[in-house]
Amino acid sequence: MSLKTREEYLDSLRQQKTVVYFMGERIENVVDSPYLRPHIESAAMTYHLAHDPVFQDLMVVESSLTGKKINRFTHIHQSTEDLVKKVKMMRMIGQRTGSCFQRCVGFDALNALYTVTYEIDQKYGTEYHDRIKKYLEYVQENDLMCAGAMTDPKGDRSKKPSQQADPDLYTRVVEKRPDGIVVRGAKAHQTGIVNSHEFIVMPTTALGPDDADYAVACAIPVDAPGVIHIFGRQTNDLRKAQGGIDAGNGRFGMVGGEALTVMNDVFVPWERVFMCGETDFAGLFVERFAAYHRQNYGGCKVGLADIIIGACSAMAYYNGVEKASHIRDKIVDMIHLAETLYTGSIACSAEGRPLPCGSYYVDTMLANITKLNVTKNIYEICRLAHDITGGFIATLPSEADFRHPEIGQYVEKYFRGRADVPTEVRIRMARLIENMTGGTALAESMHGAGSPQAMRIMLLREGNLPHKVKLAEELSGVDKVLDKTEKPA
Ligand code: SF4
Ligand code: FE
Repeated sequence: MSLKTREEYLDSLRQQKTVVYFMGERIENVVDSPYLRPHIESAAMTYHLAHDPVFQDLMVVESSLTGKKINRFTHIHQSTEDLVKKVKMMRMIGQRTGSCFQRCVGFDALNALYTVTYEIDQKYGTEYHDRIKKYLEYVQENDLMCAGAMTDPKGDRSKKPSQQADPDLYTRVVEKRPDGIVVRGAKAHQTGIVNSHEFIVMPTTALGPDDADYAVACAIPVDAPGVIHIFGRQTNDLRKAQGGIDAGNGRFGMVGGEALTVMNDVFVPWERVFMCGETDFAGLFVERFAAYHRQNYGGCKVGLADIIIGACSAMAYYNGVEKASHIRDKIVDMIHLAETLYTGSIACSAEGRPLPCGSYYVDTMLANITKLNVTKNIYEICRLAHDITGGFIATLPSEADFRHPEIGQYVEKYFRGRADVPTEVRIRMARLIENMTGGTALAESMHGAGSPQAMRIMLLREGNLPHKVKLAEELSGVDKVLDKTEKPA
């Protein structure tokens, strides 16, 4: 059963005994919780679309391990074409969900694991790469959704993991046994984890020799004993539960649905352990995973931007201003900003290269540029969306008022734009724009796949300033002054 359907995915979640808390209560039925269902439906699209004949080329691929047809979200990239198709797939799914579909995090974690385990084995003679290959076969055969668990709570950011007042603020190995390890700690901001099958634990930062217990990578079922998920609040989550027009994008929600995942002494058998103590590879893990994930943002977010641009064009028509030159200019600006992001994702994919293990990796500089641009361009797209739509998205009465037997007529009458467009149409589109351009959705563009400073550090590291200085020296006839004084950063 290599390609699950949407229904099989939902059924598989019902079989799990995942421990999830939200708003102070245990959620017994994850799939049918009105707070969780929209983002679960979004993840389910990654299964549903794999059965759509139109999208076979993007969604389905031959496994490099077994030769079987598998969902691309479980694939290890074999070429730059694979990397480009990943971006195109994400834009396509984003256009259909208007929300995060979550499955990319585990996709990127698996690809990062595949590359780094090979290099650890080369240095230390370990057997992690064989383990990840066997694990991948299991994931591919069962078409599993994996969450990628990188971000630790981090406590005092000025201190290393082993220097923290509370040693659990970074995930660590507390016991090594003949049959496996015991892991304690937590992972924060876990996208889609409550509706995943497994989660992939990875280190969150480069580590020194004192932090060997924190150099751990492993795979854990989301319902393993000792695992507790505390689901985060989102702006407008009560509207999501109420449904209807006010929810905006009621079917798929707003963002991925994030949780704090606590690991209370969780046992992990050795065959699911992919790093244990090799501190010198922790930084590489972070770099590889981050670059793969930053590659995505000019895909999924541009799919969302396509919807926002379409909604604003429609709204301009409803408002009777679609021919105004300043509105057209703003729409053009939105397209420019969105396609610039897409350009970055395609470029970092096309410029990808094979790593020693044979799988393909993106151009890290261009992937980081893409995500850094997302932290700005998406905000600008949303600012323009608010500008075009008009202030009524901030003051619009509820659907209950619109449907009210006495006052509904006033909402109908005074929230109408042009006469030939029903008020309900204008309200629905406004709620969609409101949903997609504010609150949690916007913050996700800033901090998802790492906060901007993480990319800026990579830009300085990858920017190769000494080479650029050399270029300038050669052209200007200056004789290597910096070599004799100080090197640029
Ligand atoms: Fe995938 Fe985008 Fe969501 Fe990240 S933000 S998990 S890349 S859809
Ligand atoms: Fe994200």
